[in-house]
Amino acid sequence: MIIAIDGTTSSGKGTLAKRLAAHYGLPHLDTGLLYRAVAASAINKGIDFKDERECALLAVHVDLSEFDERELRAARVGAAASVVASLGAVRRALFELQRKFAQQKGGAVLDGRDIGTVIAPDADVKLWVDAAVEERARRRYLELAGMSEAVTPQSVREQLKERDTRDAARKDAPMKPADDAIWMDTTLTNPDQTLARALEIIEERRGASKPVAKKTAKKAAAKKPQG
Ligand code: C5P
Repeated sequence: MIIAIDGTTSSGKGTLAKRLAAHYGLPHLDTGLLYRAVAASAINKGIDFKDERECALLAVHVDLSEFDERELRAARVGAAASVVASLGAVRRALFELQRKFAQQKGGAVLDGRDIGTVIAPDADVKLWVDAAVEERARRRYLELAGMSEAVTPQSVREQLKERDTRDAARKDAPMKPADDAIWMDTTLTNPDQTLARALEIIEERRGASKPVAKKTAKKAAAKKPQG
C-alpha cells in the first residue's frame, strides 16, 4: 500500500506520516528532508540557492545520512529549501529516488508537497493535510523556539506564509492537492485524533469498515481552512 500525504507547512502531515508508517509497519520518507539537505549543502558550500546547475549537482549526490536532522530542521534551511525546490533541475534530480522509495515492495508512506500529484499519482490513498495559518504558525513557533531559534510568533507567521506562497506558485510540481486526495483539516485536532481519522479513511479505502464522510480536493476547493 502506498500512502501519499501532502499539505502545507506545519499542518501536521509529517507527524501523521510517521505515525501511519509505524501503524502499518511501512517505510517512511519525509521528502522535505531531501530539499532541506540540498539547501543545507548549498549553505555549507557557499552555493547560490538560485544556481540551478550547481544545486542540481548537489541533489544528484544527496545523502541524508550525512546530516544531523536537527540541522536540517532549522528555520533558515527550511526557507532555503523552498527556494531550491522551485528549481526544475533539482526536482528532476530527486524524482527517481522518491519514485523508487514509493514503489518498493510492500509499499511506503511519503509526505511532501507533490507526492499525490507527481511522485506517486498511483498511490492507494492520498491525503491532503491543512490547518488555519494561525494554528500552523503557533505550532511552528513552538517547534523552533524549542530548538532555541531566535524567532518571534510574527516572524514565524510571515516566513510560513512566504514559503507556502512560493511552494504553491512555482512552475514545476507546485504544492497542491491531487484531485482525488481526501482533505484533512487539523486546526482543531490533536495528533491522536488526526491519526484516528486518517486510519478510518484508509481502512475504508481498503474495504475494511463502513464509509466515513470525506471531502476530496474538488469538493473542498471552496472550503479552505480560515486564517
Ligand atoms: O516539509 P518541509 O517543510 O520539510 O519542506 C521544506 C521545503 O521543501 C518546502 O517548503 C518545499 O519547498 C520543499 N518540498 C517540495 N516538495 C516536497 C517536499 C518538500 O517542494 N515533496
